[in-house]
Amino acid sequence: MPKRLERASLGIPEHPFGQDGRGLPYGELGEITGAILANRSAILGELALGFVRKRFGHLLEQEFCACPQCDKQLRSRARHPRKLETLIGSFPLERPYFYCTACEHGFYPLDEALGLASSAKQYDIQALEAWLGSEMPFETASEAYQRCTGNPMSTHHLHDCANRIGESLGVLDVCPTKVEVEARIARLALGKHRRPVMMMGIDGAHAPLAPNHPLARPNGAKGTTRRSKASESI
Ligand SMILES: [Zn+2]
Repeated sequence: MPKRLERASLGIPEHPFGQDGRGLPYGELGEITGAILANRSAILGELALGFVRKRFGHLLEQEFCACPQCDKQLRSRARHPRKLETLIGSFPLERPYFYCTACEHGFYPLDEALGLASSAKQYDIQALEAWLGSEMPFETASEAYQRCTGNPMSTHHLHDCANRIGESLGVLDVCPTKVEVEARIARLALGKHRRPVMMMGIDGAHAPLAPNHPLARPNGAKGTTRRSKASESI
């Protein structure tokens, strides 16, 4: 059987990592693991949905629910579908929707029970995005994410996610504490005649800049791919 046909009959794609030249030759085992990685999202997504069905089946089929604000008994209006993307895989979720006319409050009990993010990409993805985006340039972070998970991730999404999570953090939140700084200074000063000088560098963080500074841009300006990371040196 021709190799190409053999692969097709086994469901192994010719380019498990896509046709962008990254389908590396890792031998037969590499082809099998590459094929699994390429289909991992669908396989594990189905598995995750199975766990949701088993544990929260009553909320998937829920017909009546009390309004969380006024306790009025409500009947499900419809079942609305949405797509969930998680670190292990993606799957569709169709769940009942409830609406209280007295409170004008609409809600999905299953979404609340599962602790879902409002966006398709769930918190486990967002946490990894934030970490990758703060540790390396967004272009590298995007490639690292795709290589490790088998799923694409745009630099634009990484940038927005890292910024959104870091929005509430100030420079002092990501700096070492006073105790940690003093311990570091004491360690470096040990056996030295002169006291060390501490300097803090802010690497691409969105710290306030003077309005006429060449790096200052209006809020929400596109095109910046600077890292949001504070680092210090002594
Ligand atoms: Zn109500």
